[in-house]
Amino acid sequence: MRWDNLTDEPVEHGRTPDAALFGADAVTTRTFDTPEFRGITFHEVRARSVLNRVPGASRMPFEWTVNPYRGCSHACVYCFARKTHGYLDLDTGIGFDTQIVVKVNAPEVLRRQLGSGRWRGDHVAMGTNVDCYQRAEGRYRLMPGIISALTEHANPFSILTKGTLILRDLDLLVRAAEVTDVGISVSVGFLDSELWRTVEPGTPAPERRLDVVRALGEHGIGCGVLMAPVIPFLSDDPEQLRATVAAIAAAGATSVTPLVLHLRPGAREWFMAWLAEHHPYLVRRYERMYAGGSYAPTWYQRRITRQVHELAREYGIGPTRAGAARRIRPARPAPVPEAAEPTQLTLM
Ligand code: SF4
Repeated sequence: MRWDNLTDEPVEHGRTPDAALFGADAVTTRTFDTPEFRGITFHEVRARSVLNRVPGASRMPFEWTVNPYRGCSHACVYCFARKTHGYLDLDTGIGFDTQIVVKVNAPEVLRRQLGSGRWRGDHVAMGTNVDCYQRAEGRYRLMPGIISALTEHANPFSILTKGTLILRDLDLLVRAAEVTDVGISVSVGFLDSELWRTVEPGTPAPERRLDVVRALGEHGIGCGVLMAPVIPFLSDDPEQLRATVAAIAAAGATSVTPLVLHLRPGAREWFMAWLAEHHPYLVRRYERMYAGGSYAPTWYQRRITRQVHELAREYGIGPTRAGAARRIRPARPAPVPEAAEPTQLTLM
């Protein structure tokens, strides 16, 4: 394993990454014999830096990220962060789901970096590579310290997650939203329980994620939904889209942003193997649909986007819709990319 590269991008030849260098002696490997962590190995590391600058930030809606974990036990088959496990010489398939790197000192390092005279107070995005509220967070509890550090510095931030564990930190988020711009987005691509069980096997059920949206709204924090991924031929039926948008609206989401499945190297092989096992009749159609690269054709992305936006209008999604809690702060949702843009963002 390579422990000298804990950034979210490969190290350029001859260049030392700004973020997170580790010595091999700084790695502690642990397993826990509790049902929720069975089969998972944790690699605890002490980071030297946790603020990552996003390469090519001009295309991104954010420039800085904090990712306290690498790998994700939510185990979404399509997750394109899988390829980042390869930078550590870790397996991008099952290894991504079960070999979790934990930056155990992330809160203290972030606090130090935010207090540095060189830091300009830019927006910090979290959940952009892997889920910061995956199961490991229940044990390591890094996010409370991270949120507290950002709050102390009144530093704007956003979180994108599929994890219901975020509600553990509700009080901290409410406090943060009193002093800075806090954007929360929850990812719910579809409601189909059969599809959920096989393609997002380690995640909380979509309905539980919508409960998060509801709970945040009830506590005055507006929450957007990243409707991702919309999976061609499996979750893109007009009635499926309608049911999903209706449920998102009923949960009180302040926005809905659709994102069609993309299959970049690392995720593509894993997803196609899953497809061949669970929906073999679709393999040829996918090969044709993604023949041009990692993205579905533009016409298809536009069609989905239009359909979802029309439904969103029909269901009145947004902070000003009738019946919405008046006291919800018009918080920005966590920034998400345009549908057709290649980005750093996972499909959380
Ligand atoms: S898509 Fe998000 S929640 Fe799913 S495995 Fe990847 S990082 Fe985790």
